[in-house]
Amino acid sequence: EGKAFFIDLTRCTACRGCQIACKEWHKLPAEETKNWGSHQNPKDLSYITYKLVRMKEVVDKKGHIQNWLFFPEQCRHCLEPPCKMAADDYDPEAIIHDPLTGAVIFTEKTKNLPFNEIREACPYNIPRQDPKTKIIAKCDMCIDRVQNGLLPICVKTCPTGAMNFGDRKEMVALAKKRLAKAKKIYPHASLGDLGDVRVIYLFQEKPNNYYEFAVASLDKNKYLSRKELLAKAFAPLK
Ligand code: SF4
Ligand code: SF4
Ligand code: SF4
Repeated sequence: EGKAFFIDLTRCTACRGCQIACKEWHKLPAEETKNWGSHQNPKDLSYITYKLVRMKEVVDKKGHIQNWLFFPEQCRHCLEPPCKMAADDYDPEAIIHDPLTGAVIFTEKTKNLPFNEIREACPYNIPRQDPKTKIIAKCDMCIDRVQNGLLPICVKTCPTGAMNFGDRKEMVALAKKRLAKAKKIYPHASLGDLGDVRVIYLFQEKPNNYYEFAVASLDKNKYLSRKELLAKAFAPLK
């Protein structure tokens, strides 16, 4: 069963506590930032930014701001991670799938993998490469903390209850409970890719309004799991 996050976007205030805590815990350097006309800072994930609070203004046809959507993004720790499936063809030890927690961990051996292939395998556009060392990096579920019974630092830091973490079964139950509540205010509220990931988001609006990779592409064929692919390949002819 393993662990999971539940991220309730109706409670996120974009304080960025989670983003900063992630950097501090992993001793990652600050990005060189430029003003690019948004409060979102930095602009994108990188090999030194595993967690990014994305911000999106929703404007109506007249250009009036209707809503401001916040999306604290990180690796989803997929139940059947396509990044690992792609990596295993080259080196099964480069990306590790922790059996207890379900965390998907990129090791230093990722430096020998073809980066573009790994990035393209990820339906959420998460992996990033250090241009110098060639190591591919992303959120590691704070596995060092979780294995010692502590919460991931982003969850511990969140002041609003937007970030939650625990046994996957408990997080799924909490997500469903909060969804029912949210639906009363936001009729389009939904849980993103609930059956596929360990980072479950509660969206108050359509996921694509937040970010194009907020949920996996609807083109399911592109992201069939290895099991599904095999089943398809060996299906009896009709
Ligand atoms: Fe891998 Fe992407 Fe899934 Fe993270 S979100 S486990 S990088 S496929
Ligand atoms: Fe960063 Fe840890 Fe949160 Fe992942 S779980 S985003 S590594 S703080
Ligand atoms: Fe949102 Fe919580 Fe992160 Fe602040 S710490 S940006 S409220 S998820």
